Amino acid sequence: MDTLVVYESAVRYCLCMADAPIAVPQRSTDPAARLIEDWADNYVPGAPPHNSLYPGAVPYLALASQWRPMTRLANPCYGNPLPSINGLAVHCTAAFPTNDPYGVANYICVPGWNARVASAHFAISGNGTVIQFIPTSYSAFAQGRGALERWLSVEIDNPGLSPDSPVLANEAQIKSAQKLFAWVCKTFTIRPEVAIGHLCGDSAYDNITRTVCSAGKLNPGPSTVAMDALNSRGLSCHRWLAPGVKPCPGAGLLSQMLDIASGAATLVGR
Ligand SMILES: [Zn+2]
Repeated sequence: MDTLVVYESAVRYCLCMADAPIAVPQRSTDPAARLIEDWADNYVPGAPPHNSLYPGAVPYLALASQWRPMTRLANPCYGNPLPSINGLAVHCTAAFPTNDPYGVANYICVPGWNARVASAHFAISGNGTVIQFIPTSYSAFAQGRGALERWLSVEIDNPGLSPDSPVLANEAQIKSAQKLFAWVCKTFTIRPEVAIGHLCGDSAYDNITRTVCSAGKLNPGPSTVAMDALNSRGLSCHRWLAPGVKPCPGAGLLSQMLDIASGAATLVGR
């Protein structure tokens, strides 16, 4: 819901309750959090007030309503200013079934992130809504040191299962991921293709990595050297950037990396 509507509703409620205080928007002491708060307080779809905010996204705080308050992302979950950006890293929420935008933000993402001091720049819900949590001018804590300082991150609402039982992201989610990656490519001058994938020694996952990395025109395909993946540019994923930590984003999304990158290439005219 539009935050203005939320506040108008709150004001009307307060006028009916003569002794009740009028709600004042909360303000964080963290500069990255304040960018998201300012956007949510004056949210107009497609017109964010800062170039670190994706025009196709909804700020997570704007998903709140009078009856569905939003848990706030704690200040430690916002990282330092990002000096440069190599590309976008795909993650899964590990949730099943897929959730609506409010559910993804308030139940799947924020409470767990606050508990673990984790975060991601974006999430994509089951209906393809892109939600932004962290401005792209600051790092998120999605994929470990060395990668978090250089890669943006998106959590796609998908269970992230193994190659034995892969679950694909739906069409709305893939279309939204293509548009998001196209915006990342245009905004940060990044080639719209799959980055160097990391071959981590698990043959079932490595076979998928070889397939999705085979179509690159500029990147030289997958590598067994972890730093090759970390230093590359384009569309990457948690598994390639933090090998051995966990098999995020799972076999389904891993197999769709080329769909996301090639769709973005069409959108940016490459
Ligand atoms: Zn992940």
